Amino acid sequence: MPRLELAALFEYSSSEGCHLCLEWSEMTKLLYGKPVADQVLNQVRARILSFVGQHYRPPRLTVVLVGEDPASIIYTRRKRDVALSLGMEQETMTLPANASPTLVQETIQSLNENPHIDGILIQRPLPKGFSEEDVLQWIDPAKDVDAFHPVHAGRLFLGLPAFRPCTPAGIMMLLDHYGINPAGRVATIVGRSSIVGKPMASLLLNANATVIQCHRQTKNLAQHTREAQILIVAAGHAGLIDESHVRQGSTVIDVGIHRTADGKIVGDVARDRIEGLVQYISPVPGGVGPMTIAFLMKNTMDAAELRMTQLSGS
Ligand code: NAD
Repeated sequence: MPRLELAALFEYSSSEGCHLCLEWSEMTKLLYGKPVADQVLNQVRARILSFVGQHYRPPRLTVVLVGEDPASIIYTRRKRDVALSLGMEQETMTLPANASPTLVQETIQSLNENPHIDGILIQRPLPKGFSEEDVLQWIDPAKDVDAFHPVHAGRLFLGLPAFRPCTPAGIMMLLDHYGINPAGRVATIVGRSSIVGKPMASLLLNANATVIQCHRQTKNLAQHTREAQILIVAAGHAGLIDESHVRQGSTVIDVGIHRTADGKIVGDVARDRIEGLVQYISPVPGGVGPMTIAFLMKNTMDAAELRMTQLSGS
């Protein structure tokens, strides 16, 4: 199950109609993503208008889908719908499930070389037989709107300007929107994936937090999470974090996304067990998810503008 897309799909739509940026839940405030994501999308919409005025075409995003995984088809459609609603051009290139890595790599290469395409992303998960380490180097960094390429990871690590992976970048904006400044605070991250945990650590460190990074081999997880004034949980374990893991008055960002047997969407945090203890928590659904898709659109816009600027300067 491509969890990132599940999050984006369900969390984005489920918070439709939320009129309050902050909602009290006992003593805990909920950090809704939808109003913040809407700000990002509105800015992108305005930038598209000006881009079209300048370049006589909208930015163009191409999604590469290998196979016919039903969930991936739905997530790809969601990206298309948001992109089209903003006025972007979007197409999905579908390859058969048995396409070889060489064929997919050649396809990506032809998209890299196509001057009419601004952003490319490869829909995950890919079928067995693909090496993630290889795949993340296929897209030209200038068009890599997921920002998974080692060039972006390295630049981010060094604090240099870079495309930023959508989920961690969205979390930083969520914190900023609600006035939660990481500078000087202890931030604990549960998870060290290349998509969420590691770039999250770089972003928080760059924002002057004191960062503790936990992972599967961390001993006594609760000891480290209780240190946190800002706790980011991206472990992929439903309900991993409860009242024994949190510091009173802290901020908890729940990145996890899971569908329960009865069809409910839940996070990595047992929210009902920490409400009243922490000051802020991002709900699932409706917290981080909307930010992820908004930042995908923002990265596509950034890629289009940067590329056109570079082309006109060369
Ligand atoms: P992943 O499986 O690649 O990484 C999980 C990380 O958590 C690993 O580094 C692992 O070491 C760590 N971990 C697992 N169990 C742990 C434990 N008990 N104690 C400490 N560390 C533990 O997952 P990912 O891609 O980073 O995603 C994490 C979660 O976030 C998933 O539920 C995914 O669906 C969700 N997600 C949501 C969004 C969104 O937009 N809301 C985006 C991306 C991912």
